[in-house]
Amino acid sequence: MEQTFAVIKPDAFAAGHAGKILARIYEAGFSVVGLKKIWLSETQAGGFYHVHQDKPFFSDLTSFMSSGPCLVMVLEAPDAILKWREMMGATDPAAAAAGTLRKDFGTSIGRNATHGSDAAETAAFEINYFFAGLELI
Ligand code: UDP
Repeated sequence: MEQTFAVIKPDAFAAGHAGKILARIYEAGFSVVGLKKIWLSETQAGGFYHVHQDKPFFSDLTSFMSSGPCLVMVLEAPDAILKWREMMGATDPAAAAAGTLRKDFGTSIGRNATHGSDAAETAAFEINYFFAGLELI
């Protein structure tokens, strides 16, 4: 079993897609071991995306991620990190495969509906950034 960190980003949450995305998460066989609704500050969003702090899109990204509530989750499954990345599809919804979450719910590279950890070390950092151990059931 492996855990990954997932977000239903403010665009998808505001558009009312959270229920549909959660249904697809359960249908795919993930256990949702942590789940909460949060509204990040811009500083908190910057801490989460600190690896991108020198990128030209960083301030748009942190502004967007703090623009409204989102759902943060810890998902568990065999190969959860890769499985969730495959379910999300490519970063740019225009390049994402049919049937992926970003194709179905994303509207641009900066408004791409979901986040998922890209490696085991990133998952460990991100889970710990958002959840206390007692919140993971
Ligand atoms: N992003 C952006 N413009 C870009 C590249 C990325 O706005 O040119 C945003 C996008 O929302 C993406 C996030 O920054 O989800 C993190 O980028 P990363 O390359 O880590 O993509 P991901 O792992 O989310 O697919």
